[in-house]
Amino acid sequence: MQVRVIRGTKQIGGCVTEITSSKKTKILIDYGENLDNDDVLEIDGLTKGNKSYDAVFITHSHGDHIGCINHILDDIPVYVEPISKRIYEITAKFTHKNIRKDTLDMEFEKSIQVKDIKVTAYLADHSAYNAAMLLIEADGKKVLHTGDFRGHGTKGDLLDKMIQKIGTVDLIVTEGTVLSRTDGTGKEIICQTEKELTKKATEIFKKYDQVFILQSGTNIDRITSFYESAVSSGKNFIEDLFTTSIVFSLDNLKIPNPETFNKVYTWIPLYYEDKIEFKEYVDPLEKYCSMYSYSNNKYAMLVKSSMISSIELLHNKNHITNACLIYSMWAGYQEDAKTKKFLEDIKKYNIKDIIYLHTSGHADYKTLKKLNKLKAKKVITIHTVDGNKLKEILDNVYIVNDNEGVNVI
Ligand SMILES: [Zn+2]
Ligand SMILES: [Zn+2]
Repeated sequence: MQVRVIRGTKQIGGCVTEITSSKKTKILIDYGENLDNDDVLEIDGLTKGNKSYDAVFITHSHGDHIGCINHILDDIPVYVEPISKRIYEITAKFTHKNIRKDTLDMEFEKSIQVKDIKVTAYLADHSAYNAAMLLIEADGKKVLHTGDFRGHGTKGDLLDKMIQKIGTVDLIVTEGTVLSRTDGTGKEIICQTEKELTKKATEIFKKYDQVFILQSGTNIDRITSFYESAVSSGKNFIEDLFTTSIVFSLDNLKIPNPETFNKVYTWIPLYYEDKIEFKEYVDPLEKYCSMYSYSNNKYAMLVKSSMISSIELLHNKNHITNACLIYSMWAGYQEDAKTKKFLEDIKKYNIKDIIYLHTSGHADYKTLKKLNKLKAKKVITIHTVDGNKLKEILDNVYIVNDNEGVNVI
């Protein structure tokens, strides 16, 4: 078996990994967007020319992993976990992107055989719901592709469980997002847990009557964290249209949603009200919009940078009296022009305090170290700008460049 990272050994996001068996069966793992531009990576036999890939497997619903699958040739099967597929479709709708309709379902721990390659997905803890790690088996060898993962979220114990199940592997392709980030002290990075974040959020929620939250609508753990803080500080919890659509697409309505949770409401920004293409999202949720959600002036509300007119409306009706905004995303996104403008504009509407409260969706040093238990003979880093640092954490790190083939031994 051979592993070739086509893109991603020196960048965060947009990683594409190819695995080829000795019988020349070829699969690809992830096919998404670069984080900083929309360029589509053209690949012979994948996006153009004669088909040379037998299947593509997608680890999770983040755009940098799934965002370009509409460019893959129609006759190449693309496997996606069904809830991740739904999240991808909703996200594409709200960001006006084209989707690939035709995909095949990938279920957790049910192996998929592509000629002589066997692929098994394991549920991973990540800021995207139902993210997968993939175990690839061929030629009597095992490769683990971690996708994006972490150990400090609400499903933090999944990594240990998976390691117990799969025992050892021959090669690991791991994400290394946090390797280049520093905490300012030069120490190794240990991320605060979602639980610790919830505690801090609750303290903040107690100080303000209205809490606006800027976070990713697909970061499901975070929605739960802020819901808990809202309820324990006596507030209603208002989700924007996009977020409500996402939580309704998840299994069993276990995540805070206006149907099965108390004190949860939805907010439909005016922009969507009369848009015919959003009717399928707006109509079923209208019954969950209520003036009651904000009329007592004690509420927490998930917002998007496109929702400044919603904030203006609440301000004009005197429903912003003692408010803050919690910024709960990677700090780097603040440089995005739209976000920057939003953070500036909200000050006009009586939201004076902007508080940064976030924890990463990616594995910290402590979690990465656990991969040593798999006793891999080679470890390759992707989704990073400083793969060399992994040598301080893991055994047998093998530094490669994009497009360099590595034999699995
Ligand atoms: Zn990613
Ligand atoms: Zn991700």
